Amino acid sequence: MHAIRARHAASAFRRLTPSWNRQQGIRLPLTLAHLPLTCRQLSSGSFQGTSVSIESFAEVQAELLEGATFGDYPSRTHKCGDLNKTHVGEQVVLTGWAQNIRKFSDELIFLPLRDHSGTVQLVLKGSEEGKDGARKRLQDLTAESVICVEGRVVKREGSAVNPKMATGEIEVDLASIRVLNKTHKTLPFLPSNQSLANEEIRLKYRCLDLRRDTLQRNIRTRSLAAWVIRDYFIQNDFVEVETPMLFKSTPEGAREFVVPTRNSGSFYALPQSPQQYKQLLMASGIDRYFQIAKCFRDEDLRADRQPEFTQIDLEVSFGSAKDIQTLVEGLVRSVWHKIKGVDLFDGEPFPRMNYQLAMSKIQHVVDITGDSILEAIVLKSDMKLPSSDLKALSQQDNRVLPVVKISEKNIQTWLHKLPFTERIQGSINEDMVNAALDVQIGDSVILNTRPAFLSGGQTVLGKVRLELASKLQAKGLLQIPSAQYNFLWIEGFPLFSPPETPSPVENDGRKLAATHHPFTAPVAEDLPLLASSPEKVRGQHYDLVLNGVEIGGGSIRIHSPKLQTYVFEKILQMTPEESGRFSHLVDALSFGCPPHGGLALGFDRMMAILCETASIRDVIAFPKSASGRDLVVGSPSGLTEQQLKEYRIRVTE
Ligand code: ASP
Repeated sequence: MHAIRARHAASAFRRLTPSWNRQQGIRLPLTLAHLPLTCRQLSSGSFQGTSVSIESFAEVQAELLEGATFGDYPSRTHKCGDLNKTHVGEQVVLTGWAQNIRKFSDELIFLPLRDHSGTVQLVLKGSEEGKDGARKRLQDLTAESVICVEGRVVKREGSAVNPKMATGEIEVDLASIRVLNKTHKTLPFLPSNQSLANEEIRLKYRCLDLRRDTLQRNIRTRSLAAWVIRDYFIQNDFVEVETPMLFKSTPEGAREFVVPTRNSGSFYALPQSPQQYKQLLMASGIDRYFQIAKCFRDEDLRADRQPEFTQIDLEVSFGSAKDIQTLVEGLVRSVWHKIKGVDLFDGEPFPRMNYQLAMSKIQHVVDITGDSILEAIVLKSDMKLPSSDLKALSQQDNRVLPVVKISEKNIQTWLHKLPFTERIQGSINEDMVNAALDVQIGDSVILNTRPAFLSGGQTVLGKVRLELASKLQAKGLLQIPSAQYNFLWIEGFPLFSPPETPSPVENDGRKLAATHHPFTAPVAEDLPLLASSPEKVRGQHYDLVLNGVEIGGGSIRIHSPKLQTYVFEKILQMTPEESGRFSHLVDALSFGCPPHGGLALGFDRMMAILCETASIRDVIAFPKSASGRDLVVGSPSGLTEQQLKEYRIRVTE
């Protein structure tokens, strides 16, 4: 079966592979002009790929003779970055990526050699004949070529010592050099370049970008964190279970990616999370489950979202919300201890906050008729944002929020001039509001009205606050200490919220959607409200927030098949076809499923915070671009006519 698949793939590949163009390089920038031209870097966007065309096997052999060796070279004895004064006098074998050579004369050539541990300086000194081969190879070397060298560690003397380099007190006196794989003459960019190429180019040529120190560190830190996580779970009696990637389309909440099969009309769907399988595992007697799981959601992409992402997923039988939170706190503590050397909250439980309070942290100004309130963010006068930035901030959700610049003239009247003034309940008094909000001349006030009772999502001013913080941070007006880790549990979310698209037609007239997912259990004391006012029922859901960013969420689940069916059919108003898609779950609940609950942490986001980077793409080896494309392989991509036929797919405009 594999042979057939390989043959099929090979022929499809031939048909699809475009002919690649060879592209001429440009000259090195002037600052490097004193160096021999070792490798040319192209301006962003102009690299078209390398072209390899082979006429005969002789060419392949020639390349092998030149250095593309397979194992017939000595094994490395040290990593480049590990060498220091204690190794002086030792013979070493090093492997790594050649950097730009610096040639002072035929008798003095320097070559920095880099591997993931650091960079060490190699030096070829003297004119002995035995060194001719090495000298020639060095001079022909292109940057980022892979080499294996032998030499002796020597101490650097006097001004040759480089205090900026971790290995700056030594260098390696080169005896021999093997070029294991020479780079193409032109590279899209050099990973060692201080000024970064644009992100699209770096995403496309990811293997070059991943060689950069920062990304090396991030990917290695991620691996370490995954190891700590597994260790913690195993120590706490959890079982790691892999759940299927080829799942089924179910109306769980997010839009799914579907996978066609060759059976007409039959599709798999990729899991938006292992939620249903992990609940099935609870019914199966795996009472503590975990998985570092891939999840897929075909949703609008935001800066910190990927269509394919990783969750640290767990589920526990017979555990209360508090038990699960304690386990998660222990997990997070272990990770932070190992990666950051920090003891979070000195072992005390993480603080908690009620959802309604968390959402109202922006200053409340006055109540407005019709169950609404007026909220404000005050931007102090020393936070000097250009008016164009303020204007951009005020444009939210196709509306323009009022922004009032407080001056001597309007400080006593500004509230009276706002469009909703007539709807304000009771009399308004600027003096009181100014005192309560600490409004002074020169400040700017951004305002919004919103429903008093909140159900799910983010408030408009909540969004403004985040955008404002990042603008102020970018301008150096706001410092958010990176080593400050404010964890917080948010609880008391409404179990159901109005659907995201309020159009009754698109919602088939449904009035409520699950705030998180349809399996979350209601708070016991709110159960009587389920039939009469479901929108008032709170869920047993908890979110874990770190420095204002949600990094995880979970809940106690419904384990009663009757209640689950009631929620599907009567509250969420699923059609019999839709609720029937969950029959496996309802069956499992009816076969003696213990009470259970769990949580999932966003591993990518957590790693971005641990690695102190704003972009989750910096902690994922092969991330999708902002538009959801894998620029390395060029996906998503088309299929051949033959493939489309096999899958009975007709592509329309
Ligand atoms: N499956 C949920 C999610 O992906 C997390 C959970 O409830 O455990 O958000």
